[in-house]
Amino acid sequence: MTNDEIFAALGLTKAELTGGSLAVRSPIDGAEIAHVAETDPSAMPAVIARAQSAFKAWRTAPAPRRGELVRLFGEELRASKEALGALVTLEAGKITSEGLGEVQEMIDICDFAVGLSRQIYGLTIASERPGHRMMETWHPMGPCAVISAFNFPVAVWSWNAALALVCGDPVIWKPSEKTPLTAMASMKIMERAIARFGDAPEGLCQLVIGGPAIGEALVESRDVPIVSATGSTRMGGIVGPKVAARWGRPILELGGNNAMIVAPSADLDMAVRAIVFSAVGTAGQRCTSLRRLIAHNSIREDLVARLAKAYASLPIGDPRRATTLIGPLVDHASRDRMLSALERAKAEGGTVHGGRVVAEGVPQGGAYVEPALVEMPAQTAVVKEETFAPILYVMGYDALDEAIAMQNDVPQGLSSCIFTLNMREAEAFLSAAGSDCGIANVNIGPSGAEIGGAFGGEKETGGGRESGSDAWKGYMRRQTNTINYSAQLPLAQGVKFDF
Ligand code: NAD
Repeated sequence: MTNDEIFAALGLTKAELTGGSLAVRSPIDGAEIAHVAETDPSAMPAVIARAQSAFKAWRTAPAPRRGELVRLFGEELRASKEALGALVTLEAGKITSEGLGEVQEMIDICDFAVGLSRQIYGLTIASERPGHRMMETWHPMGPCAVISAFNFPVAVWSWNAALALVCGDPVIWKPSEKTPLTAMASMKIMERAIARFGDAPEGLCQLVIGGPAIGEALVESRDVPIVSATGSTRMGGIVGPKVAARWGRPILELGGNNAMIVAPSADLDMAVRAIVFSAVGTAGQRCTSLRRLIAHNSIREDLVARLAKAYASLPIGDPRRATTLIGPLVDHASRDRMLSALERAKAEGGTVHGGRVVAEGVPQGGAYVEPALVEMPAQTAVVKEETFAPILYVMGYDALDEAIAMQNDVPQGLSSCIFTLNMREAEAFLSAAGSDCGIANVNIGPSGAEIGGAFGGEKETGGGRESGSDAWKGYMRRQTNTINYSAQLPLAQGVKFDF
């Protein structure tokens, strides 16, 4: 599909794509593909007021009815999957299969949320008082702001939006300023679902476009009780305390520094495949990308040799080409950060394989790089930072305790994994004394999570949970109810207060 065909298929008009103050560049060749209008900060109070007024209507719609809107949205996404996937490729630089995969993830969370809309369960609780019943009820919370990052330009919003909508919360989305087009297209798809739904309140789903200042307006408003923010730890360090200071609820999904431990018993063929996909997929620009390989010293050299061979065979180039596996970095600044991290790694004793800028056989103007394998003498300072690029640091270990300690000895706590055929090692890794991450896997890489599980991580990753399991509870308020159907008024804990 040409760019114009993609825009047309998604209903993006010439007027929407031109004349605005925000230039949108494709990472493929750095070319400007649109100039879109930014939301004026002075418009933000009205946006928030619209969401508040939508909340008053939406919170009383039965949850299964709210689920119907999400069901329709999933249907519309299915119809637009190819075009939206192609736009993800154009605007975020993902290879075709990953662009489509991102849209599939949106569809999957819609399916999950539709089921959830009939399963918003509270507990009933045994009361200590005769003739009393206790239960808990989950109520809608209010407008939910979604601030999203460039690297999952549409899936992250839909994880939040699908759950928030069935939970009774209107959504205000501020996408990354690098990826407004995929957001505009997703909103058109949502608008089609809303039109078919019929009686959704005005302002139920809104989109605001711009940089941090627009995000700040949402972060600082007491009328936005939930702020789900996905991005760098630096951003979360600003947003989290501000939301907390006004007694809002932050859901933070921040940087990761994900490791794999490869034990002596590991199936190395499988490990190599998992390592390559998770370290170089999306050009190392996933929050769950594999960044640290902690390999047993008995197999480390063999593993590095196999990886070096596999790395040399990876096709780098235009992400629209069917054979490409590594597309561009998002921009040149990102490439420069990768190159400077590699210089630091060398200064800290590392031996770098690959990691060069690629200029031949790729579209000019994009930031294409070879993925880098870096053998490190120890887990030095640069290894403990998240560099959002395809750099894989390799360290050795002798005893599993040492490997687990190294895996945990970073500020981030998103995803982790072990390759082993030894049951004791696998269970130790998953135990309370094992990985300290929100995600811990066995014989599978750290990236590519399914939507059924709760997604998120600890420490500087922010502690938030989104997507599956009971992450929906983050979008609702829990109310404990005690009902007295007796003719007495006994007090709890045996307290007497007779008068
Ligand atoms: P970023 O932090 O630069 O921007 C993320 C979003 O935050 C953007 O929409 C940006 O405009 C907004 N923002 C920035 N400062 C803000 C402020 N002060 N107030 C309000 N909003 C503000 O991140 P990025 O470069 O777009 O994305 C890459 C980062 O995101 C990586 O660190 C990656 O690990 C992380 N990420 C995490 C997850 C996760 O689920 N844990 C998922 C995707 C990406």
